Amino acid sequence: MTRRVEISVRGAVQGVGFRPFVYGLASRLQLAGFVLNEPQGVEVALEGDSTAIESFLAELRASPPPLARIMDIATREKQPIGDTTFVIRESEQHGDRTVLIAPDLATCADCLDEMSDPADRRYRYPFINCTNCGPRYTIIRDLPYDRANTTMAGFEMCPACRAEYEGPAERRFHAEPTCCPECGPRVWLADVDGNRIDCENPVGEAVRLLSGGRVVAVKGLGGFHLACNAADPVAVRRLRERKHRDLKPFAIMARDMDAAGRLVQLDEAGADLLESRERPIVLSDKRGGHGLAEGVAPRSKSYGVMLPYTPLHHLLMEGPYPALVMTSGNITDEPIAHTNDDALDRLRGVADCFLLHDRPIHIRTDDSVARVVCGGRRFLRRSRGYAPFPIPLPVDTREHEILAVGPEWDNTLCFTREGLAFLSHHIGDLHNAGAYEAFLQAIEHLQDILAVKPVYLACDRHPGYMATRYARDSGAQLIEVQHHHAHVASVLAETGRAAAVIGVSFDGLGWGEAGELWGGEFLTADLGSFERAGHLKPVPQPGGDLAAKNLPRMAFSYLVEAFGEGAEDRARDMMPQFAEEEMAVVKTMIQRGVNCPLTSSLGRLFDTVSVLLGICDYNSFRAQAPMELEAEAQNAPGETGAYKVEVYGSDSAGWVVDTPSLIKSLAEDFVRGVTQSVCAARFHNSIAAFTLDICGRIRNNTGISTVALSGGVFANAFLTERLVALLDNDGFEVLMNSEVPPGDGGISLGQAAVAAWRLSCV
Ligand code: ZN
Ligand code: ZN
Ligand code: FE
Repeated sequence: MTRRVEISVRGAVQGVGFRPFVYGLASRLQLAGFVLNEPQGVEVALEGDSTAIESFLAELRASPPPLARIMDIATREKQPIGDTTFVIRESEQHGDRTVLIAPDLATCADCLDEMSDPADRRYRYPFINCTNCGPRYTIIRDLPYDRANTTMAGFEMCPACRAEYEGPAERRFHAEPTCCPECGPRVWLADVDGNRIDCENPVGEAVRLLSGGRVVAVKGLGGFHLACNAADPVAVRRLRERKHRDLKPFAIMARDMDAAGRLVQLDEAGADLLESRERPIVLSDKRGGHGLAEGVAPRSKSYGVMLPYTPLHHLLMEGPYPALVMTSGNITDEPIAHTNDDALDRLRGVADCFLLHDRPIHIRTDDSVARVVCGGRRFLRRSRGYAPFPIPLPVDTREHEILAVGPEWDNTLCFTREGLAFLSHHIGDLHNAGAYEAFLQAIEHLQDILAVKPVYLACDRHPGYMATRYARDSGAQLIEVQHHHAHVASVLAETGRAAAVIGVSFDGLGWGEAGELWGGEFLTADLGSFERAGHLKPVPQPGGDLAAKNLPRMAFSYLVEAFGEGAEDRARDMMPQFAEEEMAVVKTMIQRGVNCPLTSSLGRLFDTVSVLLGICDYNSFRAQAPMELEAEAQNAPGETGAYKVEVYGSDSAGWVVDTPSLIKSLAEDFVRGVTQSVCAARFHNSIAAFTLDICGRIRNNTGISTVALSGGVFANAFLTERLVALLDNDGFEVLMNSEVPPGDGGISLGQAAVAAWRLSCV
């Protein structure tokens, strides 16, 4: 029986070899009809034998092209019209633009084979790509995803490339960035003044310079990297000095899995993540005898390692170094440079030369960073390779499209469209002028390529956040979402939960309901609302933000809470670097309540313990002291002891964790001569224990036995793994983030989910 069926496929189905796949499948099944890209996805018409059509649909569902992600397949029966051939039609440009944009993906094995084949016309060509790999999100200017709408528009295909692009049996059939040395982008080397350095082989010359200890700015996929030989202490020190970066670890790139395995310890989950086509930076413990310079990641137990993800990287990694430092091309907190001019301007004093190319980067996208915690992927930053692939929301947003503007630090944005949440790439810290500009550009661009015009804006409640100010000034309808509720909601959103959970939200800082500083919170929450069921005891934070950097101030406040009159002696004993005059000032501030907001932040408690144990007294980058404290605890992996922590309060008024009682026991332990590592491990164990205690009380009162963990503290593997074990053991179901960061990079998803839920209820 002959039938005709029209099929609409929705999802990430453009730029991923979908039409060639459909063409091949239809031809094999001897079906006639057509396939075409349209703004909403891919349209297919099939005419032919009824069973062949059923086979087509079955195979489409079961094994689509590797990079495609299908979200919906709709079919409609039609009258046969007598088609006898199958064709690929030109794109149509009408209707709403709702096709999903694919992220940028690492060079595939087939392309690497061609690149290393001397007989291939793309032998050693740094821009080789195909339907299964290469740039996507970073080069798209507009939809539909066709070459003319990408930054490849300026490169006219040569006849050989065009034949591959148009040949249905080719690996590059309609691969929009298809190119070759004849017709495609070129790479060249420039000096610090931007003058082209004449040389036969610019990549080879860059390798030579890197081997000789030079710092080279390399234009990559989503922006510039600053590269140097990671085994050369002088080169690494030079880069640190020029970049004004004291201690924050540099990311490194290793040639392949073998090379990475010589630098870090990888379990199966870590290896999978490192090798995944998204190619994130993976944090893993250093391996002994790694041979890299101390300055790559000073005072850190781990390295952030990634594998090459562009053909240019593969060529650069041929050099005689065990790894390259590949840190973002910026100075301290600025956004990463992504145009040639911008790089030459801003990185002039940092790089000795520039490896440039002429394929423009339209959207600046930093490397993603992840680590394995409790056997699963946890993001520290979700950006290149993942953005802008959406996350389905457990709420229909069709009636109310939303823009969630995110938090102040580690900002990302989130747009909703038809029940999907589209998280932007990582934007950064918005009090930085460059990052704020990138924030405004990202709103414009995403609005355009997602074809949405949200009338609702979701934002944090903190009136000082740049994103909140933007939202308040926009004139749009606002939905304010409390910071820790947003953290918990991000877990609910990505796990598809709508029912109430116990939300454990631990981080550095969020604006509380009445403007207090929160950060050690136990909530009962669903997507619509929350109640504060418990929290850490609020203690004064002398000098506000200053105490989050200059840590003895915060620690002194805890000592006053713990020891009263005895605080000063304890301080002299445990933190001799804290000057008498400063102590006197801070003491007066606390006594008089001057510029001493109360904080229940767990981040500040981590800072305090890090100082008191003599590990770190200044956060030169965010969470430095907590990270160093975690690393210290890992030196005592077998330690199971914990400090006794008082809890007071009630079900109705909320439970309060008496953290000063913890500080008291810890200080006494340390003074008795217990080692840093054991104290650090006991501290982590204590947090896990009181968290279990409070969750138990809330379960008794409410009957809720599901716990959602979120907030930046859950990047801490030592704590998270112990806490999850305790909760599991006590019969709790535990939910965690795996699609977005538990830290503030996931806040915009939580904001969007809460706003969507509230709007769906009105
Ligand atoms: Zn490829
Ligand atoms: Zn060509
Ligand atoms: Fe937070």
